[in-house]
Amino acid sequence: MATNTAQAVLSPSEASASGRLLRIAICGRHLDDLRQRLQRFPMVLVDSDPDLVISYGGDGALLGAERDWPGIPKCPIRDVRRNPKCSLHGEDQVLDMLFEGRLRRSLLARLLAEGPGGAQLSAINDVIVSKGSISSAVRTRIRLDDEVFQAQNVGDGLVVATPFGSTGYFQSITRGCFRVGIGLAFNNPMNWLDYVVVHEDTVISVEILRGPALFLADNNPARFNLKDGDRLTVRRAEEPTLAYGIDVFRCRDCYRLRENGV
Ligand SMILES: [Zn+2]
Repeated sequence: MATNTAQAVLSPSEASASGRLLRIAICGRHLDDLRQRLQRFPMVLVDSDPDLVISYGGDGALLGAERDWPGIPKCPIRDVRRNPKCSLHGEDQVLDMLFEGRLRRSLLARLLAEGPGGAQLSAINDVIVSKGSISSAVRTRIRLDDEVFQAQNVGDGLVVATPFGSTGYFQSITRGCFRVGIGLAFNNPMNWLDYVVVHEDTVISVEILRGPALFLADNNPARFNLKDGDRLTVRRAEEPTLAYGIDVFRCRDCYRLRENGV
């Protein structure tokens, strides 16, 4: 997750100051709860051209919001029914912070994955190349900016992650995460290399030497098959996605209240 600030088209605090209603789209679960809490703010709920999308739920809700509204500013809020909150982060408190301009802004890097035949997916967490057959390893050749990085990787596949997504599947594989760049984690590789983190402008190419394999992105249900000789490229998108309150969304005090499945 980057910590730079960026200009939104219309920020919640600017909307409040100007008297213009903020156009908000919402998605997730228990949305009636959120609608009720939003009633006291200068906003209108819309299904098109939102200034802001509030995802209400967990990480999956945020990923779904980005899939449905790519590049539109996001504010992820965990629903209180499933996610107890620390004393600083009750939902009304967080919504006050949002409309008063007190929620920290972050820029979420996006990855674009392009496969054969025009297959395209984007991700704010990760792009995954997986073996297509549960009984067979996948053999890949990895290039970084057209330079061969691994002539042959044999394993269950790999994960290409953003800093934001590096606390997910990437971390499960590597036991670590990163703050800048793009990370590649190799899933059960036969050689010694578990992962590498490269510059954010690196173009990553994955050639399938022996499949079958498939690629997917975030929690998008779409799957694309990759056969022998196919290439997948992954690069950073030009425009990141502005997000409000990622630090609140990932607050350690809130996390401790739910980590035991509360
Ligand atoms: Zn908290």
